[in-house]
Amino acid sequence: MNLSLQIIELDIKLKKLIFAFIFLAASAPVLAQSLDGAVAYQYSTIDALLSGVYEGDLSVQDLLHHGDFGLGTYNRIDGEMIVIDGVAYKAKADGTVVDAGRTEQTPFAMVTRFVGGPKIVIIHPTSLKALEAVIGQIMTNKNIFYAIRVEGRFATLKTRAMSAQDKPYQPLAEVSKTQSVFSYVNMPAMLVGFYSPAFSQGINVPGFHWHALSIDHQHGGHVLDLMLTSGVIQVMPIAELELQLPTRAVFSNYEQGSKRSVELMTVEGAH
Ligand code: ZN
Repeated sequence: MNLSLQIIELDIKLKKLIFAFIFLAASAPVLAQSLDGAVAYQYSTIDALLSGVYEGDLSVQDLLHHGDFGLGTYNRIDGEMIVIDGVAYKAKADGTVVDAGRTEQTPFAMVTRFVGGPKIVIIHPTSLKALEAVIGQIMTNKNIFYAIRVEGRFATLKTRAMSAQDKPYQPLAEVSKTQSVFSYVNMPAMLVGFYSPAFSQGINVPGFHWHALSIDHQHGGHVLDLMLTSGVIQVMPIAELELQLPTRAVFSNYEQGSKRSVELMTVEGAH
């Protein structure tokens, strides 16, 4: 065996070791974990939001009764909502982040009580696509929901935030043309993510949906792209969804249609 072959063999062994490291950290199959008590609470539907239903009746205070971890937006789509450790942050279109307080209302949000779950340790630069692929490997059941918390350092993190709208409200695909986009480098941050099954189309964002908040709580938003340098991922399976629908007239009158699924990819899709 010549030297170059030995090096190739060593490289393969090393890759196997790294692979094992990641999956030992995530050792227990996700479904082996008890699903008892893991409930996602959602207010309104993604189709309503896409259609321009930008006002809801649910206050942040009431939302936080249902969970301490989640994402969404605020009435008039005034910024991106990131709920971490029981605090609802607002990433605004001007690039700042504030504590939204308790009295603001939301037209769309999803929260859960995050108790953790199997961990994946990332020790190499990982793209968003690769991150979702790694997480997908321990999601043994793709037909339930998952809450995912990521804490790490990001070589790059690209986010967006919508700005507050005035009536008459335009569909979200129109509004998104004026969204603010921010690019950060070498930033320690947390990601709040949800995975929703394909059958939730119309109700939520099928696949992964990520919002970010920097560790210093100064920056954040809806994630468009990222490169994770290193970090820890926790994945919590959720088999129960509580869906609260708005009672406002605007919700009962909005136009539903299959075109919303196409708009969803441009507005809420991360890639
Ligand atoms: Zn979002």
